[in-house]
Amino acid sequence: MRAEQAAPLPAAEGATPMMQQYIEIKAANADSLLFYRMGDFYELFFEDAEIASRALGITLTKRGKHRGEDIPMCGVPVHAADDYLQKLIGLGHRVAVCEQLEDPAEAKKRGYKAVVRRDVIRLVTPGTITEEKLLDPAQANYLMALGRVKGGEEQQLALAWIDISTGVFRVASTAVDRLLADISRIDPRELIVAEPLCHDPELRPIFDLLGRIVVPQPAVFFDSASAAMRLARFYGVATMDGFGRFSRAELSAISGAVAYVEKTQKAERPPLAAPERDEDGTSLFIDPSTRANLELARTLSGSREGSLLKAIDRTVTGAGGRLLAERLMSPLTDPLAIGLRLDSVSLFLDGPNLRDGLRELLKGVPDMTRALSRLALNRGGPRDLGALATGLEAAAAVADLLAGKELPSELAASVSTLQALPAALVSHLDRALADDLPLLKRDGGFVHEGYDQELDEMRALRDQSRRVIAGMERDLIEETGIRSLKIRHNNILGYYIEVTANNSGALTGSDEAKARFIHRQTMANAMRFTTTELADLETKIANAADRALAIELAVFDRLVEEVVAASEPLRAAAQALAVLDVSAALACLAESEDYCRPVVDASLDFHIEGGRHPVVEQALRKQLGEPFVANDCDLSPAEGEKAGAIWLLTGPNMGGKSTFLRQNALIAVLAQMGSFVPARSARIGVVDRLFSRVGASDDLARGRSTFMVEMVETAAILNQASERSLVILDEIGRGTATFDGLSIAWAAVEYLHEKNRCRALFATHFHEMTALTEKLSRLVNVTMRVKEFEGDVIFLHEVARGAADRSYGIQVARLAGLPQAVVDRARDVLHRLEEGETGTKAARIVDDLPLFSAAAMRQEPPKRKTDDRLKGELAALNPDDMTPREALEALYHLKRLAVEG
Ligand code: ATP
Repeated sequence: MRAEQAAPLPAAEGATPMMQQYIEIKAANADSLLFYRMGDFYELFFEDAEIASRALGITLTKRGKHRGEDIPMCGVPVHAADDYLQKLIGLGHRVAVCEQLEDPAEAKKRGYKAVVRRDVIRLVTPGTITEEKLLDPAQANYLMALGRVKGGEEQQLALAWIDISTGVFRVASTAVDRLLADISRIDPRELIVAEPLCHDPELRPIFDLLGRIVVPQPAVFFDSASAAMRLARFYGVATMDGFGRFSRAELSAISGAVAYVEKTQKAERPPLAAPERDEDGTSLFIDPSTRANLELARTLSGSREGSLLKAIDRTVTGAGGRLLAERLMSPLTDPLAIGLRLDSVSLFLDGPNLRDGLRELLKGVPDMTRALSRLALNRGGPRDLGALATGLEAAAAVADLLAGKELPSELAASVSTLQALPAALVSHLDRALADDLPLLKRDGGFVHEGYDQELDEMRALRDQSRRVIAGMERDLIEETGIRSLKIRHNNILGYYIEVTANNSGALTGSDEAKARFIHRQTMANAMRFTTTELADLETKIANAADRALAIELAVFDRLVEEVVAASEPLRAAAQALAVLDVSAALACLAESEDYCRPVVDASLDFHIEGGRHPVVEQALRKQLGEPFVANDCDLSPAEGEKAGAIWLLTGPNMGGKSTFLRQNALIAVLAQMGSFVPARSARIGVVDRLFSRVGASDDLARGRSTFMVEMVETAAILNQASERSLVILDEIGRGTATFDGLSIAWAAVEYLHEKNRCRALFATHFHEMTALTEKLSRLVNVTMRVKEFEGDVIFLHEVARGAADRSYGIQVARLAGLPQAVVDRARDVLHRLEEGETGTKAARIVDDLPLFSAAAMRQEPPKRKTDDRLKGELAALNPDDMTPREALEALYHLKRLAVEG
């Protein structure tokens, strides 16, 4: 959990006025690093400076003294602040950005010692960032709030989560036993909790697990009673009636999330959608360890590379990438809704031309929702407006492409959304924006020529000032007849008319001339004048640039206002484009990887024919150019049975058991997220909860051993799996003594079969368990096939009915390079153990078998001679001249030579 208070604050008394201001502002933002604006820099002082200089690798200097000590200081230039912010946020810091609220000249008017007014205008925290540079295009950036209401023994919990970079706002009820699962499904960057909850004995361990993302906040943020008022104020509406009904816990969570947005964004308001409820039970429940074990969005080591998401992502837009990730993290449980998504994929699979055309258009679509949020938060620039203009144009083109086509309902709805975009806005942006847009609005030059007449004039004046002056000079020469008359410019006089002393009479001779030509300066042999027109022109020129910029800024504000007013249709259009992107991308995936459309229904079937592991398959092809061996899996209830089957999978190490287990879990996830699946055919009775206990990992940080972790996870499965669940258990009971482990695994299978009655895959090394099929009617023995060839095992990676007769552990150990003596010794011990069955006492082995007996330690025969012969015979072969049969015989011969010498 985040520390409440950072370093002790310096005392304000005795400080200079500016330092006093700094200390005051810092005190109000004690848990953040304070970026204190001074001119073109954000400066950090005291301990903040030390932390930032270390974190950012920038020089620590000093500025003045406080109580006789140097004040450490470091600074970052404002124009590069995003890069530094990114680094600090990445390291888990929060930053309070303090700006100058007035021009220093204003402050001076109050006296020369007056300090420029400053205040924090924004808190930058991991969950509230909007900058393109700070965000991952393919990942949502959620801040989440936990709400709780307690009535006596009863407590209600709810979560609300907001992505201010896209305006998404959702809420869901939860419970203590699934709190962690729900949080990890959404994967927020910050979890806001009421300070008193941090000390709750039931919740505290969960917060400890979540670590740094937990941010305690004042309890008043979460007051469910005033939530309605807070929301109404935030959305600028009179009542909450239009928002739907929420429970008190949900209101508390919503209130906490909104209060935190207000606290961090200060005066600005991101365009949040109205809070929308995530209906309970509409998504496949995947607990956190299953999610981690299956490496859905990240591998166990934390990288995206190697995850399922990475393997299936063919989207071409950031928003599409985010939607794909969201669907993968929350697969559906309603067969009808799943079918609708699959229909969309089917359409694009069957229509490759339409799909390719669509993807070509989508490639040019920028991140509209994020641009919109930046604009609404007053953090946007011309390029964000440009992004919306480009996006809207592409949206119109996409709508045209798909208009009139026979489309499944999800896509038809997307197209209507695109068609409903306000056409006026599209054409307005198009007319208003220049072709090349600067990053910052203060640079100007982003309004298109011809859009605003005054702006065009101002620009003409600014850019063509020379020409205008030259014209005036020509006119004056003609008027006065003085050919040497010049209009010049210097910094003191500005623009002036200069004539030689001899010619000056023409400008001073008459009263009329005197009135027109105002004398400015007399030089040794020249006189300088101005005229009202020249002075006007000068002011105009001097002001033209300022004025041009002011007009541009006003145009910018008007456009932003218009865009923000259209937030709803814009966000809906962006979402519609994301849906199209995901559907087309999944069709691409299905085509290039040869996936099939699964049938997901309300039965309890689970029948996969020719299933493959989506990640391992791609890796094998890429790294080794080898094909993946497809395998069937049928856990459907047999004739007359009311529940699904359990497959008990035995087989050698390295045989492919884990791969097979995972691939079936992943196929279920893919099918229910609405994707095609890596199989020849798949029929899946919708799964409500997916559990997987795969592989062993220590959790030493929490003081739990491998075995303890395994048992905790197994307990969770046995306590929660229902008839509709899919359970994957890989070698439970391995981390303890053989008999203990066997007994636990045995009892667990019986329990799954009799009590949970779920569909399950259970891999084990305990061959004794295969006998259970005699007692448990829905238990089926399957094994990973291997071939033995001259003492070596060859893994076929094929799943077949039946039980493995042995483990081949020692052969695998040999392949791994264990010293030969250890391998031989292990064989002897195994032989003894097997001979005496399980009754053999270890003590007898110790007595009977001298350690590394002479036989086991025998020297390997000298290899040299054999090596030479092998080389010779190999060199003599000419593969081009051999028939396949001769080649095979030669291979056998060489193998014999190598093994036997
Ligand atoms: P252990 O018991 O030691 O954990 P295991 O039986 O679970 O082993 P896996 O880890 O699933 O074995 O697979 C071992 C390797 O075999 C994988 O890394 C993969 O490269 C390969 N493999 C597994 N299944 C297949 C398959 N169906 N087709 C091709 N190669 C496969």
